[in-house]
Amino acid sequence: MSEPRSRGKTARAGKPAPSSLSPVAAEASPPPGKDAFDIDEVFRLLRRATAPLPKAAMFDLRDRGYGSPFEQLVSALISARTRDETTIPVCLRLFAAARTPETMAALPEEEIVRLLYGATFPEPKARDIRALSASIAASGAVPDTAEGLMALRGVGPKIAALTLGVGFNKPAISVDIHVHRIVNRWGYVAAKTPERTMEALAPILPERYWIEINERLVPFGKFVCTGERPRCGTCLLLRQCRQVGVTVPSRGA
Ligand code: SF4
Repeated sequence: MSEPRSRGKTARAGKPAPSSLSPVAAEASPPPGKDAFDIDEVFRLLRRATAPLPKAAMFDLRDRGYGSPFEQLVSALISARTRDETTIPVCLRLFAAARTPETMAALPEEEIVRLLYGATFPEPKARDIRALSASIAASGAVPDTAEGLMALRGVGPKIAALTLGVGFNKPAISVDIHVHRIVNRWGYVAAKTPERTMEALAPILPERYWIEINERLVPFGKFVCTGERPRCGTCLLLRQCRQVGVTVPSRGA
């Protein structure tokens, strides 16, 4: 997944977007071979497309029973720049030793480093995990706002968004590189950075999809709408997607 502070943003509220930010909304009629863009239909198709794929790490851990705000916060921190395939077993190993702020803060730092074996940056992550655990243990609760979460050591916008969304079930859009790339290819937004994509999504994406968009587009982006040579030829979303910027031959065509 992405780094703690710069690859994702938290969206909690928005104002109406300029129509130029949503090319599909500005269309008089769909282009030849395409259907009118319908975000509900897109999510129906996404659920089908991602059903057989490995889940994104945070959602996988939630479904295994590690969905508390504290566990999601720690998992999101571990997942920064670490592959999902590594994040999941590392989190399971760590949570076998400690699942609460109090027990985590009581672990020696070198023990947390040992338990983080395989994740990127185990030493700084162990320091962050121990420090935020002590802070939460002292305050009595995981903060339930983006601002409160980002006041904790090592927590940036994307970690905050994942914690709010998956841990607290509060509407928050987490825009990583997959979400950014795919919604721009759809033509749903036209934005050059994940930060701009988050700003463009907030006013047009129905709130019921704010958490789910990350859950669906992380596996969809890893296995279907990949960065290089997306599998447009077999993609369920082909009639909805405007394929903006897709110029290379697709795999699986
Ligand atoms: S049609 Fe191609 S560009 Fe569009 S979502 Fe599918 S794989 Fe991605």
